[in-house]
Amino acid sequence: MHCKPPWFQRQVLDWFDQHGRKTLPWQQSKTPYTVWVSEIMLQQTQVSTVIPYYERFMARFPAVEDLARADQDEVLHHWTGLGYYARARNLHKAAQLLVEQHQSEFPNSVDAVAELPGIGRSTAGAILSLSRNVHAPILDGNVKRVLARFFAMEGWPGTTANQKQLWHWAEQLTPAKRVADFNQCMMDLGAMVCTRSKPACDQCPLQKHCLAFQQQRTLELPERKPKKDKPSKTAWLLILQSPDGRIYLEKRPQQGIWGGLHAFPQFADRDQAESHLALLNAEASFEDWEPFRHTFSHYHLHIHPLFVRLPKPLSAVSDNALWYHPGMAEQVGLSAPVKLLLERLF
Ligand code: SF4
Repeated sequence: MHCKPPWFQRQVLDWFDQHGRKTLPWQQSKTPYTVWVSEIMLQQTQVSTVIPYYERFMARFPAVEDLARADQDEVLHHWTGLGYYARARNLHKAAQLLVEQHQSEFPNSVDAVAELPGIGRSTAGAILSLSRNVHAPILDGNVKRVLARFFAMEGWPGTTANQKQLWHWAEQLTPAKRVADFNQCMMDLGAMVCTRSKPACDQCPLQKHCLAFQQQRTLELPERKPKKDKPSKTAWLLILQSPDGRIYLEKRPQQGIWGGLHAFPQFADRDQAESHLALLNAEASFEDWEPFRHTFSHYHLHIHPLFVRLPKPLSAVSDNALWYHPGMAEQVGLSAPVKLLLERLF
């Protein structure tokens, strides 16, 4: 290592005392539960987006037992708009496991916490270090970027070899004391100073020994993930409206995209959508709405909405379905495209 860990730690902790974030909602009365919920929400999502979701979630599920007891539909409802819904399903499942197997308390070892659904090594480290000062390094996207630049790492940080190297550095640099402040500060530095597109090196406490800075490579490091073209898929959505204005939504299977959310019946092509309508004995004409594209992390989905105003109520309705209207008491999770299409109607 080209610098001594005590120097690195002192720089980070001094900067934290002066500039670190200390007033975010989840930083008030930190517990493993509050840190966990915030860390999961913050994955792939900006702090400013997360704050109102976090506050609503905590108002409704103030303790792990409240979350464990809740209906999955309600948990997904509180996640609607945040995306990556597997996070919410795993959060719910993990809360149930904590209550059933751990007396509602988080275990005190990183390995045991990382066995819970949806919690990797870095999140487990963040939960235990930020709430209990357990000596555990973290390596989220922000920390990875800081370390990859500080050490001028070659290649994409996500390769197995580079991941191993990054964990090794994180372990060596994490101090024995003030672990919570140190880890929080590493995330803050990545989010506020060593940002992806415009690192503010003149404000960075690590500049003196930062290799990317010395080599004037701050903009080219860390190297990007090798690009693969995203495949495309097509989906036809049947938007069925009953004569009283309500919209038919079905709960999707737990596995696959939008698992557990409520959605319009979905088909691979138009023929299948029309045959389905014929099966329901719903004689009605279609109205084609403007197609649009929704992008997931691993593919594009071309969505063709077909709007159908039913002349009479449907007789056959599946157990997993409901007739949606905005004022309904039952709360369910909705994906972004479904929300968007419903907004056209209500
Ligand atoms: Fe990042 Fe610049 Fe600080 Fe290096 S000096 S860690 S590139 S902000």
